[in-house]
This record gives sequence, structure tokens and C-alpha cells, in this order.
Amino acid sequence: MEFTGATSAIRSVYSIGITILQIIAAQLDFDDDFSDLIEEADAEEIARRPDPRVPANGPDLETLKKLSAMAAASVQRFSKRIQVMPLLRQAREAASTLSTSEVPALKSEVERMAAELRRLRLAEEKAAELAAALTKRCELCFDEVSVEQVGSLMCPNEHLICSDCSPDMVRNFLERIGASDTMLDDHSSRGGLIPCVRHNPAFQPQCSRHYTDQSLARALPDEIFVGYRAAQDDVTENRIWHQHNQRFQEEVSRMQRQLEGEQATKREEVRAVVVDL
Ligand SMILES: [Zn+2]
Ligand SMILES: [Zn+2]
Repeated sequence: MEFTGATSAIRSVYSIGITILQIIAAQLDFDDDFSDLIEEADAEEIARRPDPRVPANGPDLETLKKLSAMAAASVQRFSKRIQVMPLLRQAREAASTLSTSEVPALKSEVERMAAELRRLRLAEEKAAELAAALTKRCELCFDEVSVEQVGSLMCPNEHLICSDCSPDMVRNFLERIGASDTMLDDHSSRGGLIPCVRHNPAFQPQCSRHYTDQSLARALPDEIFVGYRAAQDDVTENRIWHQHNQRFQEEVSRMQRQLEGEQATKREEVRAVVVDL
């Protein structure tokens, strides 16, 4: 398994929950009943479906309850799902109360799971450290900053603008499109998106990507982001106005043609009358 962050941790918690469920129910295949059990994610329901080989009132009843609770908490829907550390604590607790004579397999599985979770936790911490340590050079001021720097801006090709430069860059960009029709047209043709600074041919290689709204929202002070969105609205309004205008022009031409046609007919009629005279 590969762990890339919090999301994979939550997914791993889910698969560990499934494993516990399989151990409790001594079941490997996913028939309808088992799928229902996962779907319901109910600890009491899970505890009622133990491995028939485990004595119902044996010394491991407490453990069974604990494991059922862990399984239920781990297969909950995403938002309600238990997190790694609490699950790890519960796993340790459950492992310490197990009677080794009766279910050694269960104990070793719980230990394996605890080790897996520790490893997962470490891997995540390491990934977070690595991400924080990863630096990039700002395309504008050439400072080396962490890619995690608050307020920095990065295009999908990972060209970074540091937090000192990003508000000014966007402010300047918006001012320039406000001041030049050509730039506004370009901006409209890009759907109101702000291109990566390496869009400029002065940079080699050039970059043709845009900053996503999400990254801009994260990087920019509120008032600048609002300015950016307003510029996008302008682009939309501009386009709508354009379409209206075009339709209006077409309507005018159509009426003109109709009028000319009618006038021609009238002229014909007049001529006919004159000829008759
Ligand atoms: Zn910079
Ligand atoms: Zn770029």
C-alpha cells in the first residue's frame, strides 16, 4: 500500500475495519449479509455475528465487544470514520485484554494491525515533513520558499509564486486587463482565468497552464480574490453583452433586408401605376 496523506489514512482505516470484521465473523467472502454488516456499521450487530468457534460467553466477550466497536467505527461513512490514532489506541487496548490461549490468531492480527497503523502514522508524518521541506524558487523574486508556504501560488505545472509576490502579481494582472482592451479580450478568451506567469514569452520554457480558483482563493488576501472573481464576472457579462449585441445586429440586418424588400415591391407597384397612366 502506498500512503500519500490523510485521505489514504482514512481509506486504510476502512480496510483495517473490514479486516477486523472478517476476523470477528470468520468470513472471507463478501456475501449480501456481510455487505449489509459493513453498510450498517453497527457495533452491536457486528458483535452478534461472531466466529461460531469462539464461545459466546467466553472470557473474550469483552474483547469481542471492543473489536466490534472498532470495526464499526472504522467502516463508518467518511465523515464519521474513526481517525488513525484513536483506532491505534483501541487496538492496543483490545490486544492487551486478549486471552492468548483461545484466540492467538486474533491477537496477532490486532498486533499486526497496530504495527501497520504505527507505520502508517510515521509514513504520514514523514510525508508531511518532506512536503514542508520541499522548496521551490519563486518565479518572480527567485527566493527559495517551501511549497507549503501560506499565501504562495502554484500553477498545475508547479511554477511557484511566493506569498510576497502573489498578491501584487494578481493585482497587476487585473489592473493591466482593466487598462487594455487587447488584454481584456485575451483574458475573456481564457474564460477569465489567470495564466501562469511563465505564460510570458520572456520565460523559457513557457507555461500554458492557469492558476485554479482554489489555489487563488488559498493564496490571495480576500479583497484581491474578490477583485479576481469580479473580473471573471465582468468577462461573463462582457460575453453576454457580446451575444446580445450580435443578436441585436442580426435582427437589425434582418429588418433592414425586409424593409428594402418591401420598398422594392412598393417601387414596382408605383412603376406599374405610372406605366398604366
Ligand atoms: Zn517571490
Ligand atoms: Zn506554470
